[in-house]
Amino acid sequence: MRQWIAGLTALLISSFALAAPSPWQKITHPVAGSAQAIGEFANGCVVGAEPLPLQGANYQILRPDQRRYYGHPDLLMFIHRLSNQVTHLGLGELLVGDMAMPAGGRFSSGHASHQSGLDVDIWLQLPKSRWSAAQLLKPQPIDLVAANGRDISARQWKPALGMLIKLAAQDDEVTRIFVNPAIKQQLCASAGSDRQWLQKVRPWFGHRAHMHVRLRCPPSSLECVEQAPVPAGDGCGTELQSWFQPAKPGSGSPAKKPPPPLPRSCQALLDRHLIEP
Ligand SMILES: [Zn+2]
Repeated sequence: MRQWIAGLTALLISSFALAAPSPWQKITHPVAGSAQAIGEFANGCVVGAEPLPLQGANYQILRPDQRRYYGHPDLLMFIHRLSNQVTHLGLGELLVGDMAMPAGGRFSSGHASHQSGLDVDIWLQLPKSRWSAAQLLKPQPIDLVAANGRDISARQWKPALGMLIKLAAQDDEVTRIFVNPAIKQQLCASAGSDRQWLQKVRPWFGHRAHMHVRLRCPPSSLECVEQAPVPAGDGCGTELQSWFQPAKPGSGSPAKKPPPPLPRSCQALLDRHLIEP
């Protein structure tokens, strides 16, 4: 009984934490200064962020009313590079989802990462024509994973999506791309002999309708904390297969821990802004 109550309490606390408003939402403009990504991807902030221009010739921004289209200038340059390539190859329209808030930090809902201005969600759709303003405000995701959770949805998948993921993975500044294991499996099966880029494509929960692209720490961001390098190889073997095994008892995801303390520079930035809004 006590265990049951403890479990319920933990559940309530974690669901509360997920929906808790984040003080970072109150910062509505980028923090002035030379561009700095600070801290970890899932516990950090960004100074000198820039908005991705709302009117892009080669991309469109989803849910612009949420104002999650800020990033370190390196992230903006990456999106420009990728969207130019996609347009040049005639793959379709690039749909840009969440980036970061004006000063980064934790969203009140949705993501744990996207905090230091170096992460972007790119939707896996590539429509042939541009979306209307109404479509951009209420975008409809396309689930690319079949109901069995193991295979790609053959009806929805198209080779251009594989080319999009490959283009992003071949960018020198990209360190990781997260996609659903079923999508990674599709890429592994169709890659042929050119497989080096697959190393950066990492299987992860969710990500059935978008890829999450992460850049390396910019060299001039001295307080940016880099992740460990991705394992060697294309990641198509036992590691990927382990995602399709039934979970062993007790091996589920560990209980959510309270968030670690913010990097000192981020806490100082937050304190300053909340005192003098
Ligand atoms: Zn993401």
